Amino acid sequence: MRVRIHRGAAEIGGSCVEVEAASGARILLDLGAPFGVDAAEAPLPPVRGLTTGEDPDLLGIIVSHPHQDHWGLVPRAHPSVPVFIGRDAARILRAAVFFGPGIDLAPTAHLEHRRPLRLGPFTVTPYLNDHSAYDAYSLLVEADGKRLFYTGDIRGHGRKRALFDALLAAPPRDIDVLLMEGTNIPAEAPPEPAPAPAAASEAALEEELVTTFEEADGLVLVAFSAQNIDRLVTVYRAAVRAGRGLVVDLYAASIAEATGRASIPKPGFPKLHVLVPRHQRRRVREAAAFERVARIRPSRLFPEALAPRRRSLVCLFRASLIEDLEDAACLDEGLLVWSHWHGYLDEDERVRAFADRHGLPIVLRHTSGHASPPDLKRLADALAPGRIVPIHTFGGDRFASLFERVERQPDGVWWAA
Ligand SMILES: [Zn+2]
Repeated sequence: MRVRIHRGAAEIGGSCVEVEAASGARILLDLGAPFGVDAAEAPLPPVRGLTTGEDPDLLGIIVSHPHQDHWGLVPRAHPSVPVFIGRDAARILRAAVFFGPGIDLAPTAHLEHRRPLRLGPFTVTPYLNDHSAYDAYSLLVEADGKRLFYTGDIRGHGRKRALFDALLAAPPRDIDVLLMEGTNIPAEAPPEPAPAPAAASEAALEEELVTTFEEADGLVLVAFSAQNIDRLVTVYRAAVRAGRGLVVDLYAASIAEATGRASIPKPGFPKLHVLVPRHQRRRVREAAAFERVARIRPSRLFPEALAPRRRSLVCLFRASLIEDLEDAACLDEGLLVWSHWHGYLDEDERVRAFADRHGLPIVLRHTSGHASPPDLKRLADALAPGRIVPIHTFGGDRFASLFERVERQPDGVWWAA
């Protein structure tokens, strides 16, 4: 079995790994878009048959999870190349199409926890894992008597940390190569300190948010990704515990419904309200998709209710909601909680300008979607692989100081597993 990292050996973004069996059969693990580049313009990795669909040896693209840096270039692959992804992950991406940021990947089959998928000489066993994306998997790839374990994006401190603990307690044995993500291993040590320390876990973040929501006087806006279902659960639970309701927009409500999971807060849950902002009302009208609004009617909250109820609500925030929030005149004594990675705060200049305009303090309340170095160490120790190859990291040079048997492999070069 041979392996070639196309992108990710020395960066976060655009993850793509090609694996080839002795027979010549090949699969791709992820086909992501790099950050900071238009996915339509980004160079495609030189994978034979990827754009022509004319190479029968290319057996498919396995998408570990629904983050764009792992699936973003899939739409540019030839439609005859099979795609594999988790069922709920596919549903979430499909649900997002109506609102803009989604895709219908039309998967050939779905990844299922610990159910081996056979593709020619390959056996690929997905391990459902804990990550900020919903329905995310690590992948055990076997062929020619070799075993490669690709972590995908993984952590051990989210709402699904039991999956991480279960992996450590009963890891797959005899792993030749561990292809391990290192998002939280920065290029330089010590890392640049964050403006505020991140919470150690989603559970710790929930506690911090309860206090923040209780102490706030006016409306609390919380900026987080609608597709980060763990964070939706955390914010909802904290809001309810603090005696507040949570307002989400139609997009976030649709994503939550797409998970199909009874435990995920969605329209119909107590104290969960749905706001349909102007741009989404327009979209519904243009597409004559009125059933989308009819369905959430019992949970609907109109903008006029934001101001009088501002002391008892928490509201999902995104820059595209600024106009609606300003029109609702609901921002007196308000607060903006930034619940993304702190580096994203200055990527959209509208956010700080909006906060300044209304005198909203900005507080950071976040926990990483990726494993801490100590958790990566626990993972590496449990799997005890023959070699560890870094991926999805700027800190590949530092792996050897943290883990044993590290072997760097650059982008674009084949190596034997
Ligand atoms: Zn991810």
